[in-house]
Amino acid sequence: MNKYLKYTLIGIVIISVIVILIVLNINRNNKKEVDDGKTKIVTSFYPMYIIAENITEGANNIELVNMADVNVGCLHDYTLTTEDMKKVEDADIFISNGLGMENFIDKILESNSDMQVIDSSVDVTNLISDDNEVNGHIWTNIDNYIKQVESVAEGLKKVNEENAAIYDENAREYIEKLNDLKKEYYEALEILNGKKAVVLNEAFEYMGQELGLDMIVIKTDHEESTLSAEVLKNTIDRVKKENIEMIIIDKNDNKSNAETISKETGAKIFELNSGLSGTLDKDAYINSCIENISIIQAGLM
Ligand SMILES: [Zn+2]
Repeated sequence: MNKYLKYTLIGIVIISVIVILIVLNINRNNKKEVDDGKTKIVTSFYPMYIIAENITEGANNIELVNMADVNVGCLHDYTLTTEDMKKVEDADIFISNGLGMENFIDKILESNSDMQVIDSSVDVTNLISDDNEVNGHIWTNIDNYIKQVESVAEGLKKVNEENAAIYDENAREYIEKLNDLKKEYYEALEILNGKKAVVLNEAFEYMGQELGLDMIVIKTDHEESTLSAEVLKNTIDRVKKENIEMIIIDKNDNKSNAETISKETGAKIFELNSGLSGTLDKDAYINSCIENISIIQAGLM
């Protein structure tokens, strides 16, 4: 064989091998970006994550992710982080509380318009404050919470039919547990029916409504330390005048104003769990209600 021909052939073989290797490598890199086939379900924040955790247990080909960090607490007045955007940009399903809690939803949909949004609040009757603001903290009422569980299960069944039977069964089981809880809770907290309370955290408005509390709800955006001197003084006057015995706040709230009101009036502070943060345990919601029973019972003894 001609010497030059031989070198040319060797050259062609080497170049071909290099080209093949490059093509294979490009394909491999592309595959990493291709969808892994799983349905990605993102919940907006903690209470929604606990619901989704219960409903999706054992579901096939899904990935469940919570968007806002658990330490964030409530989402009202929340600003999305870069991390949050990363979590939702390839999501297939977004589970929201609804009632304005996720007022950033348009921004998410702009970056991911294919995402299906499930609104858990569709069957819940909401409370509206004197200044026309909707209270979105519906889950603190167990009956509302059960409706939210039902709506999330229905939504998931529609958009992820593959797991419909699993969602149905999980929702049935969870609601059964919640109904048992409700029975225990109503019985234990019957003592609250008609009792007067000043509530310094709007999340408890739905809870108080369910238990028949006679409430004065003071809007604090979960931060009772923000009360103005005037509101504080008026509250103290009302608590004295109406013989109010209970001051309700969240156990994570700064309690300086509650303490001032208590000192001035003798009303007792109840530091309850509004279910806005906690462990990622499936039974976290149920446990938060049981915790509240103990705190209320101990406080009223
Ligand atoms: Zn809130």
